[in-house]
Amino acid sequence: MSFRPPKGTDDIGAPESNLWRDVLGEWERWADLFGYPLVATPIFEATELFERGVGSDTEVVTKQMYTFTDRGGRSLTLRPEGTAGVVRAFLDSGAKGPWKGSYSGPMFRHERPQAGRRRQFWQVGVEYLDVEGPAADAEVVELGYRFLTAVEIPGLDVVLNSLGDAVCRPGYVETLRGYLDAKREVLCDDSLSIVDVNPLRVLDCRVCAPVLADAPSMKDHLCESCADHYSQVKKSLEALEVPFVEDARLVRGLDYYTRTAFEYVATDLEAAQNAVGGGGRYDGLAESIGGRPAPGVGFALGVDRIVLASSREPAGRIDVYLVSESGPYEALIAASALRRDGLRVELDTEGRKVDTQFRAASRLGARAVVVLPAAGDDVDVRIGDERSGMPLGSVAKWLEGRL
Ligand SMILES: [Zn+2]
Ligand SMILES: [Zn+2]
Repeated sequence: MSFRPPKGTDDIGAPESNLWRDVLGEWERWADLFGYPLVATPIFEATELFERGVGSDTEVVTKQMYTFTDRGGRSLTLRPEGTAGVVRAFLDSGAKGPWKGSYSGPMFRHERPQAGRRRQFWQVGVEYLDVEGPAADAEVVELGYRFLTAVEIPGLDVVLNSLGDAVCRPGYVETLRGYLDAKREVLCDDSLSIVDVNPLRVLDCRVCAPVLADAPSMKDHLCESCADHYSQVKKSLEALEVPFVEDARLVRGLDYYTRTAFEYVATDLEAAQNAVGGGGRYDGLAESIGGRPAPGVGFALGVDRIVLASSREPAGRIDVYLVSESGPYEALIAASALRRDGLRVELDTEGRKVDTQFRAASRLGARAVVVLPAAGDDVDVRIGDERSGMPLGSVAKWLEGRL
């Protein structure tokens, strides 16, 4: 009998996992530079948290969740996204903001698997809570942009919109409803099924886009304070040199989203899978999951797609391959010394022939080879054509600046 990974999941090993490591390392670096500490929340939560926090009429909740009853009879769900859990953790901690948290980990959705879309997928993201000002929105958008630039997403676009708030959006939604009502005959079935529940989300439909080109735009219906907030966000992004394009069709569909909405798009990828992440302001979310009012802004990025889109070459994983003429015992002791000097070292624990060890060094892409002689004290260090004999204790210093 043999087992394969469940449908929609994959085993990710080297060399692909080397790029994953680089991307996740880059993520930690940028989250840290922007002041977002890690918040590790449970991978499963009460089902109701997602029903309320993601929205009970969304596709994620109605069709895609991995929900189960535990041995205590509780309905639990593997997290389909990261925001609800982090906001819950923030509310539960009793903290008064401004408060920042970042996350990185697997999420679960029962979707049709395709390139860049797995049923277990990895997201990184941030949440910034108890903040209202446009500078917070701009800082969050910038963080995602800097990270995605660092991991070399080709053709990266930031798409931006404002969704208004409780003051101005209801009026707009009514206007939109009237417009869509007159278009029922040309809407696709998916759009028809949501047009009464959530007309905003019809704007998101790629199929219907061509027949909705003249739909009324939220932009023309923003109240004065939303319009001001939006223009401040744009002004800040320009000053930060974060390029963006505006798109009135970017709606993100959920009721608790307010004002700023954005997406990061890898325009070099196929349209169906080119959104590498997105986010927005969600001033109503904390209340919708039963907490106190806590305005906030955040984003989530899909690492599976980022790895697919990245044009970055994974960094080499081995600094030194230790070729031993005297056997694995001596190699083990020498490798330990070099590792404690901060070098990434591989060795042959099996006592294979010296030729075989050299071939392993080149197959693994080791940047330097250190030959441990059968007799004598000095090792032989080689990088390309450069060679030098020296005591083992001098190797790290000699390699410094050469690797
Ligand atoms: Zn449609
Ligand atoms: Zn408004």
